[in-house]
Amino acid sequence: MNYLPIFLELRGKPALVVGGGEAALAKVRLLRAAGAAVTVIAPRLCGGLSELLAAGEIGQRPRGFVAGDLAGCAIAVAASGRPEVDTRVAEAAQARGLPVNVVDRPELCSFIVPAIVDRDPLVVAVSSGGAAPVLARRVRARIEALLPARLGRLARFAETFRGALRAALPEAAARLRFWERFFDGPVAAAVLAGRESDAREDMLALVNRPGAALRDGAGQVAIVGAGPGDPDLLTLRALRLLQEADVLVHDRLVAPDILDYARRDARRIYVGKAKGSHARSQAEINALLVREAREGKRVVRLKGGDPFVFGRGGEELEYLAGHGIPAEVVPGITAATGCAAASGIPLTHRAHAAAVTFVTGHGRNGEPEVDWAALARARQTLVVYMGVSAAGRIAARLIDNGLPAGTPVAVIENGTRAGQKTVRGRLRDLEALIDAHGIVGPAVIVIGEVARAGAAVERPARQPALAV
Ligand code: SAH
Repeated sequence: MNYLPIFLELRGKPALVVGGGEAALAKVRLLRAAGAAVTVIAPRLCGGLSELLAAGEIGQRPRGFVAGDLAGCAIAVAASGRPEVDTRVAEAAQARGLPVNVVDRPELCSFIVPAIVDRDPLVVAVSSGGAAPVLARRVRARIEALLPARLGRLARFAETFRGALRAALPEAAARLRFWERFFDGPVAAAVLAGRESDAREDMLALVNRPGAALRDGAGQVAIVGAGPGDPDLLTLRALRLLQEADVLVHDRLVAPDILDYARRDARRIYVGKAKGSHARSQAEINALLVREAREGKRVVRLKGGDPFVFGRGGEELEYLAGHGIPAEVVPGITAATGCAAASGIPLTHRAHAAAVTFVTGHGRNGEPEVDWAALARARQTLVVYMGVSAAGRIAARLIDNGLPAGTPVAVIENGTRAGQKTVRGRLRDLEALIDAHGIVGPAVIVIGEVARAGAAVERPARQPALAV
């Protein structure tokens, strides 16, 4: 290690920043975030620093640096951008034994400032020791994506119960086990999901019977939307839950490269349902989720697209609630919006479409129960899911109900995945179009004036993101 990572306590302590530009501003913000009393030495201040001065957040001496400015300071930063000034600041500070950082001049620094992931009070600092700052920033970005936004709140939440728990569980090893369970458990998940007042009630109950909390399985289920295929389209929350899950229960529509983002040792249970051949019935899936959660597992029920759009996520959520299993739902990008973006077709358009309807082409007993006359009205976009095999009948119903046979259509197969295919035509030719291009699905059918758009912007599906 070229540098020792340490965290400095600066609350209320005087800090000196020499320089009035943007580089100084960035360092002032950091020092302020740590509670330092900052004085800026500079004849002129940039806009951001002037605002901080006007708000009483910092002090200023509107002149050049003199060594006496360092008297009483706990830390100094040179950010004037003028080599002779910055060198003078560094030498004067070093002579007094003060920690000093000079922006972009590592040879003059007694400390360097890491890239930071701030989930106050939890802070992660990353440094390459000056060897490759861009690499350090990329590592930081990866960690940023992994750590939930409300992690800091969770730390404070836990802090408020530490005293009570110490009284309830005097033995340190038992407390340790309690916290280990807590951070994996449903109460922590509720805090991270923003349901802090519910969590507080549940936590009070836990702290009042900590022995029971240690005995009971603290399993939970997250019903997670995996998006249309491209792993880059996962939400940050989906990614985090995937990486924490003990068990993954996934569908046919979840692309295999998304499963690669899960923990290597997580158990994967395939419950795919292809049309007509059900690998597992919905009742079996529901029972499986409850069983795994009751064993104390963190279960992720991963579904293609969004769990609440033709995903039966609602039924699973209801079943879990009925069996007392804590569950949360994480939205995903649904096939309609994923395919629209990937093929350059806007779903609404000020000139052509004031509404968009997602409709299934497949009902419980074949034909869906939908109001064809309403779907056939002008100035709207229809996106048909599960409609490939019934495309001819769907087109005929719409035309019978008054939608012009010449209405533009687009069929997007494997949207956002490798092998994405978009074909365009007219409503009257929809079935022939699907046959001629050998479309077998998964595919959505877009019907409406907007389907004409987009050929120019279409691009091949992206490769998975590169490593850092
Ligand atoms: N919950 C999913 C939909 C499940 S129904 C969602 O929100 O996207 C299954 C249907 O979704 C398929 O028949 C197809 O119409 C559509 N679909 C799913 N992924 C798709 C993809 N990558 N490209 C095109 N259509 C897709």
